Amino acid sequence: AIDYDKVDEHTKFLIFPISVIGCGKTTTSQTLTNLFPETWGHIQNDDITGKDKSQLIKKSLELLAKQEMKCVIVDRNNHQFRERKQLFEWLDELKEDYLAYDTNIKVIGISFAPYDKLSKIRDITMQRVIKRGNNHQSIKLDELGEKKVIGIMSGFLKRYQPLNIDKSPDNMFDLMIELDFNEIDSSLTNVKQILNEIHRAYPILMPEIPTDDKIDEAFRKSLEYKPTVRKIVGKGNGNQQKTPKLIRPVYISVNAREHDEIINLVRQGVANNKDLSQKFEGLLANDRLQKDFHITLGHVMSSREKEGKKLWKLYLTRYHDQITEYNNNHKENNSGNNQNTSVNTTDKLKFKLSKLCWDDKIIAIVVELSGNETGCLIDVNGDIVNGLKCLNKVPHITVCKIDSNVKAVYSNVLCEKVQSGEAQDENVKVLKLSDAKEFVGDVCLNF
Ligand code: GDP
Ligand code: MG
Repeated sequence: AIDYDKVDEHTKFLIFPISVIGCGKTTTSQTLTNLFPETWGHIQNDDITGKDKSQLIKKSLELLAKQEMKCVIVDRNNHQFRERKQLFEWLDELKEDYLAYDTNIKVIGISFAPYDKLSKIRDITMQRVIKRGNNHQSIKLDELGEKKVIGIMSGFLKRYQPLNIDKSPDNMFDLMIELDFNEIDSSLTNVKQILNEIHRAYPILMPEIPTDDKIDEAFRKSLEYKPTVRKIVGKGNGNQQKTPKLIRPVYISVNAREHDEIINLVRQGVANNKDLSQKFEGLLANDRLQKDFHITLGHVMSSREKEGKKLWKLYLTRYHDQITEYNNNHKENNSGNNQNTSVNTTDKLKFKLSKLCWDDKIIAIVVELSGNETGCLIDVNGDIVNGLKCLNKVPHITVCKIDSNVKAVYSNVLCEKVQSGEAQDENVKVLKLSDAKEFVGDVCLNF
C-alpha cells in the first residue's frame, strides 16, 4: 500500500497561490526559482495563451516530472474557491499522465492577500501595476489605459474569496502559508517567511535556508523580470487551437526478434502428431501465421480494471517521452486515422516457450518470462525495470488465427483455460515445447 502521508526524498511539491493582481506572486516565485534554479520551477498562467486552461497544470506537472525537479509554483491568482477547487481536480485527473502513480505530491498554499488589509492592498497594488506599465503578458498600460487596468483589478478585489481553511477546497492543502502584506519590499519579506515555513514543515525539500545575501540578490534580480509571452485576454488568441487530446498506445507488446526460430520450435513440437503437423505445414504454406510474433504486456482495455489501471499508468509514465514524441510527430493529422503504428522502445524482455495451445479457432504459445517479482523488462543497462509486469494472467504469443474472425483476446481465454487445467476439452491440444532457447523481444508501443 502507498503511504500518501509519508514525506521523503521522492516527494514532490506544488505551490498554489491565493491572491489578487499585483501582490507579488510572480516576483516572489522568480526569487524562489532564482534561489533554487535546478530544483524549483515556475509556470505562469499569464504565459498560457491557448484555449485549454488546464495547460497550466499540465505544464506544471510536466516540469515537476523531471527527475531533478522538486517543487513547482503554479502562478495564478486563484482568488475564488472555484479556481482553487479546479486546480485540485485537474491535479487529481492529470497527475498520473505525467508522474508515476505512486509519486507522492504535497500541495502548499500561499495566501498573499490578508482580508483585513484589503484596502491597503488595493492602493499599493494599483500603484505597482501602473508602475509596472507594459511589463506584463496581458495587462499592458499603454494599450488598456489606466482606467481599464484599475477596472480589471477592482473586479478581482470585488470577487475575492479569501482563504477559508476550514472548508473545501482550502482544507485540502497540506501546508498553508499565510503572508502579511507590507508596503515596502513585501516580496522580499514574503520570500523569507516562505523559506522559513517550508524549511520547518518540509526539511527534506529545504534542508537549509539560504543566506540573507543570497536572498537579497535573488530578489533584486526578480524585480528586473520581463515577461516573454504576449497574451491577449478576452478576444481569444488569434487562431490558437484547443490542445489536441494526447494519443496513447492501444497496447504495449514485446515483439520477438526471432520469427523463424519460433516457427521451427513449433514444428518440432508437433512433429509427433501427424495430424497437427500436417495442418501446421498447411497454414505455414498458405501464409496464415501471424506476421509478427508478440507477447502483449498490456492493453488499454485491461486498464479498466482496478489493478490493471495502476500498472497501465505505470507503463504510460515509463514511456512518457516516446508517447510525447509520437504525439509531436502526428500533430498535423491526429484525426484518428493514423493508427496501427508501432514505436520501439529501448526496453526488452527475455522469454522461453512453454506450451503450444491449439483448438479449432487459434494457435497460441504460453511463454515464460524471465525476471523476478519486481518485474520482467530489462532496460538498456541490462537492469530489471522496477514494477512493470505483464498485465495478462498468462503471457502468450498468438501464432495463428485459424478462424480469421476470432478476436486476438481469445488467446487469453484459451491460454488461461489451459494454464488452470480446465481445458479437458477434446478440441484443445496442448503440447510441451522445447524451452532450451531463451528468446529476446523488444518492447513496442502500438498506437
Ligand atoms: P503578481 O501580479 O502578483 O504576479 O505581481 P508581480 O510580481 O508582477 O508584481 C507587480 C509589480 O510590483 C511588479 O512590477 C513588481 O516588480 C513589483 N513588485 C513586486 N513585489 C515588490 C516588492 O517587494 N518591492 C517592490 N519595490 N516592487 C515589487
Ligand atoms: Mg504575475
